[in-house]
Amino acid sequence: MTPKNILVTGAAGFLGSHLTDALLAKGHSVLGVDNLATGNMANLAHLSGESRFSFLNHDISTPFDPGPADFIFNFASPASPVDYAKLGPETLLVGSAGTINTLNLARKYKAGYLHASTSECYGDPEVHPQVETYWGRVNPIGPRSVYDEAKRFSEAAVTAWHRYYGVDTHMVRIFNTYGPRLQANDGRVISNFMIQALMGKPLTVYGDGLQTRSFCYVSDLIDGIVRLSESSEHTPVNIGNPTEFTMLECASEVLHVTGSKSEIVYEPLPQDDPTRRRPDITKARNLLKWEPKISLREGLEKSLAYFQDCVGAQST
Ligand code: UDP
Repeated sequence: MTPKNILVTGAAGFLGSHLTDALLAKGHSVLGVDNLATGNMANLAHLSGESRFSFLNHDISTPFDPGPADFIFNFASPASPVDYAKLGPETLLVGSAGTINTLNLARKYKAGYLHASTSECYGDPEVHPQVETYWGRVNPIGPRSVYDEAKRFSEAAVTAWHRYYGVDTHMVRIFNTYGPRLQANDGRVISNFMIQALMGKPLTVYGDGLQTRSFCYVSDLIDGIVRLSESSEHTPVNIGNPTEFTMLECASEVLHVTGSKSEIVYEPLPQDDPTRRRPDITKARNLLKWEPKISLREGLEKSLAYFQDCVGAQST
């Protein structure tokens, strides 16, 4: 494959940094852009000697022009419920102005474009598992709306830049993903449970713990995204692991993998927390010949050393 010049926004984030690694491993050159609102330069520290990687500290909500690119991956956004609750206006801006600014770059340089969308587009779904043709059930003014509606607006914008301007666009609807570099303090369930278990603290289960999520290990997700970027599909594609867990089952997997004796404590369920979530991945299977390979237990085992380091860093 011909090496490409690729722009990755959100490159210092959890997914952006893993995506950057995968693109560099394929021989491409990457310009990473991030304003470090929630990203962390530690996620890119291992690339300091890599001549095919460069970094620009910039908020994509403000127009910018880093020069020609062959492909743009738009991954910039706060993404955990705790982060986007703190950064509400910033989340709305990056998912609206930021998306338009990067789409305009793709149009100008005739670059391919892949947007990181989300299962949050489905809101608290009445259709289960979620298929791409389902329009979703989102509260437009609830606490999650700054994220959900920005991502839904972005899907409309990406579709319009394809439909009206012929930009070669792609959209992935990402379901819950975990692995090394997931921020230790961003409030997500896997990072919270792993850190709590390793510190011998109680695992905080919100609500009755019977709500479900389906967790995908990061390398499986990145593989699906790279395949989608090489496809000719312009409508959204779910990428995620279809094996569904209640939060109580998730807690018990974490206790097993960490060997922790932590107890479970129950805390209030956040407003508009989706009761269930599971991707229907038939489209990805057929179109991309993709499916996840790594179970939750294996993925947690692969993530253990990273979370042990996080706990070590917190206690020093
Ligand atoms: N959750 C939990 N305990 C925690 C953090 C989260 O029980 O310490 C629950 C949360 O209420 C939700 C699920 O775990 O039902 C997934 O939450 P997360 O913030 O990881 O992502 P979401 O899928 O809600 O965006």
